[in-house]
Amino acid sequence: MQALTESGAGTEARPVPRSPRRLHESWILDHLRRRGRASRAELVAATGLSRATVSALTGELLAQGKVVVTEPATATGPGRTPQALALNPAAGLVLGLDFGHSRVGVVAADAAHAIIGSATRPYPRSTPWETRCAIAVRLARTVLAGGAPRLAAVGIGIAGSISGRPAVVEAIRDAFTDAFGVPVRTDNNARLAGLAESVWGAARGVPDALYVRLSSGVGGTVILDGRVHRGRGGAAGEFGHVCIDPTGPLCRCSNRGCLECYVGVEAVLAEAGGTTLAELGAALDRGDRDAAAVVAKAGQRIGLVLAGAGNVLDVPHVVLGGDLTVLGEHLVRPVRQTLARHLHANPDATVGLAELGDLDGALGGVALVLHDPSIPFTGPLAPRHLTGTA
Ligand SMILES: [Zn+2]
Repeated sequence: MQALTESGAGTEARPVPRSPRRLHESWILDHLRRRGRASRAELVAATGLSRATVSALTGELLAQGKVVVTEPATATGPGRTPQALALNPAAGLVLGLDFGHSRVGVVAADAAHAIIGSATRPYPRSTPWETRCAIAVRLARTVLAGGAPRLAAVGIGIAGSISGRPAVVEAIRDAFTDAFGVPVRTDNNARLAGLAESVWGAARGVPDALYVRLSSGVGGTVILDGRVHRGRGGAAGEFGHVCIDPTGPLCRCSNRGCLECYVGVEAVLAEAGGTTLAELGAALDRGDRDAAAVVAKAGQRIGLVLAGAGNVLDVPHVVLGGDLTVLGEHLVRPVRQTLARHLHANPDATVGLAELGDLDGALGGVALVLHDPSIPFTGPLAPRHLTGTA
């Protein structure tokens, strides 16, 4: 049952069913909730249950309307295409939000992982949290449209430290609890972006991955066994504050020489003598050697920190996200080369670019809720088939 063992994933609390049958049923529901859809064969592999048990339990769940047949799973060749199962989308909606420094993003999705709406709204960086929350609640109501009564929970990503700002986090939670009356969960938005990439993006299907978000700030996510590893103090994944030179510049975290001081967008632009990433990208594309050297150096630094983490955790899969990744292969190549040189015992190391775009943090808010078994879906449950049958 490796796929469903806990791996130090923070505050998740799983209610344990009393009978083995209910326990096995909860494994199936849990997998569908995390992954969106799966064939019976995938459920067998994920849960370790026998084919007969999975077949019997999914039959019951279908009859009860807790699970539905959705689009066919990925075709595996000629012959019968296996049915894909998903949670009944009528079981409830999830709202995901991403409070960035200058904008909020909102996504609403159903229990089967279908996105029913999304939107973003900018605000000045100086906007107080009370106003940001009011903007976000209005935007969320618009995105939910008539679906608000089916809302099951809200997952919220917040830029910057969570543990260091309890008053801000509490104010945000209170605003959404008051507005919607459902459970609210919060986490760092860079970490949630990585979680979203592991569920729907560049790290999907990969049990262990390191995600680093390279924007003004540098943060990230450690995914182990398909779950976010938060660490004892909830700060795991802070790649940006790994020291690469103890005599280096002062970092906003009050240490010196952190990775972020060298590879945050502003630091890279300052070193390259440019004003925008578009300018820097254009210089790279026309073969400007100075620009190439600056980006290569940044990529090497990122690669060294990721190789260090990858060696300690034995995780060879890396996903790069954030604003700096508009530099594309100019940035990816030195990261990949550095990993290839410094990552031990992992000849299959991969470096990919994030795939989910600007709504990655809000999608991560959805995933945060879907991955939290303490939040029940309690909407109307009626037998129902979506598109496609086998
Ligand atoms: Zn720092």
